[in-house]
Amino acid sequence: MVTFDNCGIYCAQADIYIDPWKPVKKAIITHAHSDHARFGNGFYIAHEHAIPVMKYRLGADIQCQALKYQEEIAINGVKISLHPAGHIWGSAQVRLEYKGEIWVVSGDYKLQQDGISAPFEPVRCHSFITESTFGLPIYKFPKPQDVHDDINTWWRKNQDQGKNSVICAYALGKAQRVLKHLDTSIGNIYIRMVRLTM
Ligand SMILES: [Zn+2]
Repeated sequence: MVTFDNCGIYCAQADIYIDPWKPVKKAIITHAHSDHARFGNGFYIAHEHAIPVMKYRLGADIQCQALKYQEEIAINGVKISLHPAGHIWGSAQVRLEYKGEIWVVSGDYKLQQDGISAPFEPVRCHSFITESTFGLPIYKFPKPQDVHDDINTWWRKNQDQGKNSVICAYALGKAQRVLKHLDTSIGNIYIRMVRLTM
């Protein structure tokens, strides 16, 4: 039901791509990060929380349809729904069902709860297409709680010494996670968004 071609992950029955890397007529977008939500598609389907970010990044005039998690639509007999991926605000796995066969495309996902994203939902399926950017065993990440504790300890120490602390974090995803876990009793927080152009 799902294949790969030179534009990306394609469901021929619904004539729709998932996170295509070249412009296509119709795309389901798993989340608003720029390596998944790209410019130039004719129509975008995404979670309702991803759409405002996509409009901000891709243009307010993009043609799009917002779905809630678990809300089902049908395109040419293919039932399509989005399910929480736990990656960033509005991130979704895509579930496709046609004549009883179910495929799920994960998009980026994580199993830990970050207090911001809707928690990852396991979805029963016959075939699962998984992202695996950091799936290799060489990638070992510290526990999120340890990172939050380190940041707050460092901030408190700087505060005691009369120094300001500056943290740079990617604007969509990481910045919200850092903010969520700062100990606001330590001091004031100021945010500045910087656009990098290359
Ligand atoms: Zn991502």
